[in-house]
Amino acid sequence: MSRKINCGKSHGHFGQYGAAGLLIHRYRDTGEVEILLCRRARHTDDEGLWGTIGGAIIPGETVHECALREVEEEIGIKAGDICIPTAQTTDDHGTWKYTTIFATPAEGLQIPDLTLNRAELSEVSWISRQELQNYILHPAFENWIYDLLDILLPPDIDPQTRSIVRPSKLKKR
Ligand SMILES: [Zn+2]
Repeated sequence: MSRKINCGKSHGHFGQYGAAGLLIHRYRDTGEVEILLCRRARHTDDEGLWGTIGGAIIPGETVHECALREVEEEIGIKAGDICIPTAQTTDDHGTWKYTTIFATPAEGLQIPDLTLNRAELSEVSWISRQELQNYILHPAFENWIYDLLDILLPPDIDPQTRSIVRPSKLKKR
């Protein structure tokens, strides 16, 4: 277990080499983007909070290797079950960074297909942009998801008008 280190923003973070995770996303039939988030289990740091699936980087590991290892450990998705990451973003806290890699699942991937690591996670869910406001998000995730969702994920398409629904309609809590 790695010790906590202090970042340039006065937080305590796990992972001497930073951390990485996968933000798995896909489209609903309605055209909305949904993202796969997990809820941290009881007795973990961040208990009860929702966020991306990921964790601390092991020495010698790349951010991609870390994200794929964490996803396999936490929800049982193997590298072959997701499409090659298309984009990534880094939340830079100075001495500590969290890199989020964007990926899409193999077609037809369902939550019952996943094998949850119950020591770490209590549940996973597909959540649309609009639904995000109904979940208690991990503060670090919440801080950037609203700001970057518009840039990093394709906008939702209204199924009736086929027009683009801008996520900026979302209100920050
Ligand atoms: Zn920090």
